[in-house]
Amino acid sequence: MFNYQAPADLLKDRTILVTGAGDGIGAAAAVAYAQAGATVILLGRTVKKLETVYDLIEERGGKQPALFPLNLESAGEADYVALANAIDENFGHLDGVLHNASLLGNITPAEQYPLDVWNRVMQVNVNAAFALTRFLIPLLRKSPDPSLVFTTSSVGRKGRAYWGAYAVSKFATEGLVQVLTDELTGKHDPIRVNAINPGATRTRMRATAYPGENPDTNPPAQDIMPLYLYLMGPDSRGVSGKSLDAQGNDTPDTLI
Ligand code: NDP
Repeated sequence: MFNYQAPADLLKDRTILVTGAGDGIGAAAAVAYAQAGATVILLGRTVKKLETVYDLIEERGGKQPALFPLNLESAGEADYVALANAIDENFGHLDGVLHNASLLGNITPAEQYPLDVWNRVMQVNVNAAFALTRFLIPLLRKSPDPSLVFTTSSVGRKGRAYWGAYAVSKFATEGLVQVLTDELTGKHDPIRVNAINPGATRTRMRATAYPGENPDTNPPAQDIMPLYLYLMGPDSRGVSGKSLDAQGNDTPDTLI
């Protein structure tokens, strides 16, 4: 596991958007960020799940979160502009985005891969993450310490048979991180951009991808949070353009 102990008030006064915040790793990250003092904007497609996370954050004494229900499969420019305007009006800036929402699609041979599923996976995992970023960059620039975090996977670094659109979407995510780092991290633009590979984690997506696996062999999402916290907080200043493993052996010292 990434070796980092977050201070209790790590994200005090920060506003952070989490996509896919209603379930799995996104829900755990939203709760962890709120526990660390952030105001979290919960974005997802299932309102009921977002409300459950909202309640959990309040129960645990976190700052009141904001809800932004949005289906990233059908979202268009007007939705992204509306989100940016709402964040601007309510908070005036944005300190971090965790791009976490993803579709698994089908695990199937390429010659049988349904084209509509391919397009849906690319839409949610790549196009929507890019579009959100595109419209949120001006708000990130207003933060003194902005951080963009994308979510990759081991199949986004080395392709594997049958993983189709999901693997290709994660390769695209790795590419997007490199392009954005080159563009946004520098003297005049302090936005850092990184990707997290969560590693095998006990969620609905993992159970769907590996139905025969005993879920208890993988850690629950709340256990992989040290890297998620580190990349959103001030201790990761200067770290950009990296693709990191939440369950790997890195420490903050090996990164800077
Ligand atoms: P889950 O399937 O448990 O959660 C995915 C989240 O994304 C859900 O909240 C889901 O919403 C949301 N989402 C999916 N489609 C849309 C959409 N169209 N619009 C808005 N929100 C959407 O997945 P995990 O928590 O396991 O995965 C989180 C991230 O980690 C993903 O990027 C995944 O690729 C990556 N990952 C996970 C691994 C694992 O072992 N779990 C391993 C490697 C990478 P809803 O709940 O409403 O369906």
